[in-house]
Amino acid sequence: MKRFLLSGLLIALGTVPASALTAAEYARRPKLVVVLVVDQFRADYLSRFEKKFLPAGTAAKPGGFRFLMQQGAWFPSAEYDVLQCMTCPGHAMIASGARPALNGIGTNDWFDPVTGKLVYCAEDSEFGRSPRRLLTTTFGDELKNVHEKSRVMTVALKDRSAIMLGGQRADLALWLDEAAWQWTSSKYYAEPPAWVGKFNEGLQKTPKLSFKVNTLPIAIAGTRMTLDAAKEILKREKLGRGPGTDVLGVSLSNHDMLGHQLGPNSPEMERLTLEEDRQIADFLRVLSQEMKGLQDVVIAFTADHGIPPVSEVAKNFKIDTGLFDFLPVLRKINERLDKRFGSAGDKPWVLRTRLFHFFLDQELIRKKKLARAEVEDEVKQALLAEPGVLQVFTRSEYDRGLFPPGLIGQQLKNSYIPGQSGDVVLIAKPFFMNKTGNAVTHMTGWSYDRTVPLILYGRAFKPGVYAGGLVIDLAPTLSFVLGTLPPAMNEGRVLKEALR
Ligand SMILES: [Zn+2]
Repeated sequence: MKRFLLSGLLIALGTVPASALTAAEYARRPKLVVVLVVDQFRADYLSRFEKKFLPAGTAAKPGGFRFLMQQGAWFPSAEYDVLQCMTCPGHAMIASGARPALNGIGTNDWFDPVTGKLVYCAEDSEFGRSPRRLLTTTFGDELKNVHEKSRVMTVALKDRSAIMLGGQRADLALWLDEAAWQWTSSKYYAEPPAWVGKFNEGLQKTPKLSFKVNTLPIAIAGTRMTLDAAKEILKREKLGRGPGTDVLGVSLSNHDMLGHQLGPNSPEMERLTLEEDRQIADFLRVLSQEMKGLQDVVIAFTADHGIPPVSEVAKNFKIDTGLFDFLPVLRKINERLDKRFGSAGDKPWVLRTRLFHFFLDQELIRKKKLARAEVEDEVKQALLAEPGVLQVFTRSEYDRGLFPPGLIGQQLKNSYIPGQSGDVVLIAKPFFMNKTGNAVTHMTGWSYDRTVPLILYGRAFKPGVYAGGLVIDLAPTLSFVLGTLPPAMNEGRVLKEALR
């Protein structure tokens, strides 16, 4: 009793940890790590819709989101500390623990002035698709690097999500070939197992959906398709029941596809979230059945980015909002540069604008014997005169280490990739976005795009609600639990407050 009181006192004084993970406990590695990502899942979805989620259930019969929120270590507002939040960089950061400035994945695609074409983040001249533009290993790669029997398998409708989650060494990365209506992969990876062909035969018998036409029923069906494929991988490959620890990465792309159309305040997004709750519960139940409980499973749940409200809704909220139409803006800029530096000739000064990045014709600047800083600054001044533009950053400022103060400067440091990012980068005011085919889009580092939930479930984690947390902390935390090295370029920290 006395000893008990004493230890209680020491705990209260913070001199001994409440219950440290013992070496024996630490040595008992999980058999399976499941990384579950919902594409465009804002941090507030979980708290907003919590009352309507299924009951938490138990490890033998888990519910959906509520199970993870109550039984896991839940970071309700984890963040991406980067300038632009979108799918490819998000998934790359989840798996690698490194930010774009290091890992090479700053945006979904970027302009290459040499070829005059856009470069896709998962594009590969040899294999069509591969993770080779990701310049680092992932937590799954590091696991495989020391445990040759470990397997890493991923699935998502979007190729970039499956590819970035899978890292360099995935044993299987599946995504949907919508035109062929089948799950597919790339020759970069080993030939998919024979069962994938059989599974595709089953899929071909179902009505073909177009994920470009987004409706709630299509989003629900696509989510089910993805989780069905995840269950199939789990069962066919007996993941978690082999000689090594395995990894299953699943990303639900439909939430993003519908969210772009309707925005986070629409009743359909609530309906989809509640449907995901049911479907995830169903997936977790299969997981628990296959693994005979969840005692040897780690589940990580997060999102690749969030989304702002659609402009019309933002206006009703008395928020200053607007859409950029860059075509007339570009025309104005090019005219301004013509006037200052002389006619550009047949090609414009600004070759292309993409995702707030502006790419200048460097050859023209050289030919005219101009200082690139001068031309970039002229573009900067022109952009600063446009409504909705908060700040503008240039390559020359990067070269001279002239970052703006505060949040944006830090985000730029974490995100800017010289030679790949634009010569001029626009930083929009909050709630201002690109005019695209979508009602709303995410490509900023403002809170609505950068804040997402992060949950860690498993024996090593202390259930509870935790403040803070960065998404790049996920990979090193998983590496820690796996007893492996963190990914090569890891910049995150182990979320030790969540450890038992
Ligand atoms: Zn998106």
